[in-house]
Amino acid sequence: MPTTNNNNKSSGNDDSRTLDFIIVGGGLSGLVVARNLNNKYIVTTDDNSNIKNNKRKLRWKLFEATSILGGRLQNDDAGRKIDLDGAWIWPPHQPTIMESLVNSSTLGIKTFLQPGDDYDSSATTRIVGGAVEFVNKIYQELLTKSIVDSDKSCSSIQVDCPVIAVRRNIDHSISVELDSGEIVRANHVIFAVPPKILSCNVSFHPKLSNVKSDAMSNSQTWMAGVTKVALVYRGASPQFWPLILRGGLISPRFRSPAFQVYDGSPFSSPSSDDTGKTSILTFFTLASLSNQTNNDAMLAKDCAEQMCQSLSSDSILETSEIRKFIRSFDEFYVKRWPQERYISNETDPTEISPHPQPKKALAKSEWDGTLLFAGTETDLHSPGVMEGAVGAAIRVTKELSERLSISTEQ
Ligand SMILES: Cc1cc2nc3c(=O)[nH]c(=O)nc-3n(C[C@H](O)[C@H](O)[C@H](O)COP(=O)(O)OP(=O)(O)OC[C@H]3O[C@@H](n4cnc5c(N)ncnc54)[C@H](O)[C@@H]3O)c2cc1C
Repeated sequence: MPTTNNNNKSSGNDDSRTLDFIIVGGGLSGLVVARNLNNKYIVTTDDNSNIKNNKRKLRWKLFEATSILGGRLQNDDAGRKIDLDGAWIWPPHQPTIMESLVNSSTLGIKTFLQPGDDYDSSATTRIVGGAVEFVNKIYQELLTKSIVDSDKSCSSIQVDCPVIAVRRNIDHSISVELDSGEIVRANHVIFAVPPKILSCNVSFHPKLSNVKSDAMSNSQTWMAGVTKVALVYRGASPQFWPLILRGGLISPRFRSPAFQVYDGSPFSSPSSDDTGKTSILTFFTLASLSNQTNNDAMLAKDCAEQMCQSLSSDSILETSEIRKFIRSFDEFYVKRWPQERYISNETDPTEISPHPQPKKALAKSEWDGTLLFAGTETDLHSPGVMEGAVGAAIRVTKELSERLSISTEQ
């Protein structure tokens, strides 16, 4: 039977109904894999590894469980472009995301320094439009280079498609089962899902190795326990920073939800007029410590109150005036990450997990290299952050390219 590789490392089949690969998870990592492999060609060979002088485009699909792409990268839903997700990059320490995405000439990503952090040598940086712009721009690029459906979406990417099981077939292809009951076959499957969530929601037949299963079920999903709260102040307003808040670390108090706050105001160019400017305070919280755990309005009020209590008397701004201002927010937005069932396995955590450490077992492929694992938690350099999501995607792209004979030639 013809194979899709020229080095006999796998015995995938070339049946036209069998895809070359399926990506599970439409967060940053899954989309970077799609971007890296979209429009690439594969050289097909016969059973004796003879090149048949035959090239065809890679056939792939991406399945995302929820109705939107982005995973842990999401803005507010009112279009204010407030990061309610991963927000910061640290350019001097993050060469991978800088080279692949920020400095990409085709994506057109724009950045600005986190207001109030000008003293910080790690140059804490935000993305104009929110970090979800990485996802939006990659998707736009995929659209221009892919087959587009009648509703103008990319035909290879399907949302609302949770994967519930994967089965290895006798010919070593893999059947991927969606919760709708549909089964799609591929020669390789790339998971770009938090490993803990994978261990809870997807069944593997045959079972994964013990070392892999243990690493996945013992892993923690970075920031999945956090609820982010943004308080919006419309119109002309005083600058929030510098306020003496010890680098944004807000004082923990009895039954007070916030543990960090920053100036989340959107980018405005230095030349722009301040009239009508929107200022935003963004809090990281543990919502279980709010006065009424599931009440968003109460959580927003609690954050404002906690910040007022945390202001020290030697604040550069006049403290009573700024307290009054902080309490009088015009709008608020709350994103409860623990309630996202495809991100978090705990709906009401009482503590934040520590930053993950690199774990080789999370990165290791399974089923003779046909099951591959991306997603930030699997990265061996910067697990947890966006840099890790991109790093893991690049590692998996290389692993798959070595297995298949991938060519960029058109
Ligand atoms: C509040 C918060 C603050 C953060 N702050 C920062 C920061 O300042 N800087 C930084 O670098 N990073 C930060 N992060 C982390 C950053 O957001 C992540 O590192 C990055 O977005 C992870 O991307 P990913 O693709 O690896 O995983 P995810 O974004 O988790 O994507 C996984 C995707 O898989 C989907 N999925 C899950 N199960 C299935 C299934 N069975 N079938 C199909 N699809 C499935 C999910 O719906 C999701 O879309 C923060 C995260 C949060 C939540």
